Amino acid sequence: MTSLKVITFDLDDTLWDNSGVMARTETGHYGWLLDNLAVWLEERRWPPWRLDVDQGLEDYLQRRKRLAQEVPERRGDFTWLRLRALEAQLEAQGLPRSAATLWAAAAMNEFHRLRVQVTPHPEAAELLADLGQRYRLAAITNGNIHLKRQPLAGYFEVAIAAGELLAPKPDPTAFLTALERFEVAPQNAMHVGDSWEEDIVPALRLGMHAVWISEERHDALPKGVHRIGHVRELRGVLAALNSPY
Ligand SMILES: [Mg+2]
Repeated sequence: MTSLKVITFDLDDTLWDNSGVMARTETGHYGWLLDNLAVWLEERRWPPWRLDVDQGLEDYLQRRKRLAQEVPERRGDFTWLRLRALEAQLEAQGLPRSAATLWAAAAMNEFHRLRVQVTPHPEAAELLADLGQRYRLAAITNGNIHLKRQPLAGYFEVAIAAGELLAPKPDPTAFLTALERFEVAPQNAMHVGDSWEEDIVPALRLGMHAVWISEERHDALPKGVHRIGHVRELRGVLAALNSPY
């Protein structure tokens, strides 16, 4: 029998399937930028933009990778990397700095608008509402989704973007921050996530319970780790933990 008080959740690929959203967001915000910029350049009779969508996206990606190497403490802050990479690309294409800053910010605004259009698993809202009656809940993500605008935001008392703390998971900082906010010891807390490296390893190191969402079967998981195939199975894990037998 454990006295579990806090449950922390990873978001992407834990409470929703993220793959389609990222692909749509990536091409969507960049396409938006090129479309709107083309009109703006034409109105000013400035030379047109020279990169097509594919070339532009590739250049944008390479710039982010280089920046992450040059400024390693920001490597997990994806919003910052994107903003700086877009500004640099726009300047390299001949825009004055002031216009580059403005257009990069506008494109990132569009990025965030698209990025929050995630569809939580159908069971997620009810599950979190139920769990919220018994436990205090937090979200801990490495993703750069807008934490207040994501569709399940209302269920979390604490929400932490680990990349913006400059300490992306598996760094323990985000977990420790959540435990500290709730004033709870790690053994009274559980983390639920899909990444072995980023979610399960750091939670275990701190002595938290860990629920790994993975479709792979594993015979010998370390003590304290429970594997489920989908977040809807979480209630079963909690029932077993709370059972006196
Ligand atoms: Mg995840």
